[in-house]
Amino acid sequence: MIMEKIVSLCKRRGFIFSSSQIYGGLSSIWDYGPLGVELKRNIKNLWWKDLVHQRSDIEGLDAAVLMHPKVWEASGHLKNFSDLLMDCRECKKRFRIEDVAAQPPITNYQPPKCPECGGELTKPRQFNLMFKTSRGLFLRPETAQGIFVNFRNICQTLHLKLPFGIAQIGKAFRNEITTGNFTFRSREFEQMEIEYFVQPAEAQKWYEYWVNERFNWYIKLGIKKENLRVREHSKEELAHYARQCSDIEYNFSFFTKGARLPSVGQGPTSGRGWKELEGIANRQDFDLIQHQRFSGEDLNYEGVVPYIIEPSGGVDRTLLALLVDAYYEEEVKGRKRVVLRLNKDLAPIKIAVLPLLRNRPEIVKIAKRIRDELLPHFITKYDDTASIGKLYRRQDEIGTPYCITVDVQSLDDKKVTARERDTMRQERIAMSKLREYMGEKLK
Ligand code: ATP
Repeated sequence: MIMEKIVSLCKRRGFIFSSSQIYGGLSSIWDYGPLGVELKRNIKNLWWKDLVHQRSDIEGLDAAVLMHPKVWEASGHLKNFSDLLMDCRECKKRFRIEDVAAQPPITNYQPPKCPECGGELTKPRQFNLMFKTSRGLFLRPETAQGIFVNFRNICQTLHLKLPFGIAQIGKAFRNEITTGNFTFRSREFEQMEIEYFVQPAEAQKWYEYWVNERFNWYIKLGIKKENLRVREHSKEELAHYARQCSDIEYNFSFFTKGARLPSVGQGPTSGRGWKELEGIANRQDFDLIQHQRFSGEDLNYEGVVPYIIEPSGGVDRTLLALLVDAYYEEEVKGRKRVVLRLNKDLAPIKIAVLPLLRNRPEIVKIAKRIRDELLPHFITKYDDTASIGKLYRRQDEIGTPYCITVDVQSLDDKKVTARERDTMRQERIAMSKLREYMGEKLK
């Protein structure tokens, strides 16, 4: 099962560990290891670069996780931020209604059967997802509110003109009741959110613009287009603040039981399993009006209470989709090769320097020198803890785009072998030209 393979690779290679593992772990909370943190940062940095640094209409923010309790009254979270959940009377498992039924209950409601054991499910009940601290404060369930309460601070200090956006990446916490699917639904996770403030009459135009922009961003990350889709919410599904909302979904179908692995160049088989990576909502003037009412502060700007278009994505879900999308098993010379075909901009390590013979000090010395020369320019690792075949396999499995091998011949011809991950093509390169060569390849 592919889910198990990804989970095992993540643990074995240091992408993701379950939290507090030596104490038996903590349900639906995860720690990112040395490779996971690099991949995660690469995703966040690319988002920040594309949406804040390379645009003239969006500014950044880093607001606190803890906020005034009134914020959650005003936002509607205390009243409305809940999931409908059902319990199985037989196997006692708990399900979100979305996972067992298409729609919330209507009249003459017949409870659906348990998807695990076919048993009878209870009537749906509301569970609030807010995390309360012992001081009576809440951990934020979304980063968005930090932006709304800073709206006036930011537009006044920077004299911004509508339309403009405020961007934030940060932790969010939800007391999710149903768990599973690895990091997909965690209790602590990271969001990347933009609140884009517009003239009310232009909200529709900007909503369509952002759905399109955000869909294309996931393709830019290297996720296969056939595994992505946009799904518009039905009226019944809309959150209390939204006039319109579309999800960008990834096809996690081959993540589910019994699915087969795709071969190179072939996407996963279609079917169930489309799940949200990001939601783009037209939040109207709901939030600013509410905060105006609860705080008593005037949040008009340029003569209106702006409408808000919100692209809200999850770092952890994007990372998971990238891993699933990039994971391949193939046969090379009768042996199984696992390779993560990650976009090279996202790969945690760019270059691995490997000595062909680890017991030859002259070779080791050159390899370490090359590592030190490349280190200021590219994320480079040296490894001599196994035979060269094993070292290559390790690097393929973590998605390192290039391996540089130093061998006996290098001592004479001052050349090394550069091996490319996807094609496994090897090229002899003069050591003196290596930095330039790698710069060209990793551009
Ligand atoms: P879902 O319906 O799957 O619970 P949501 O609609 O509640 O998601 P939003 O409130 O729109 O999610 O949050 C924006 C983004 O934050 C989501 O698209 C997702 O990527 C991420 N996200 C939300 N909840 C979680 C979670 N429990 N674990 C990981 N990421 C999450």
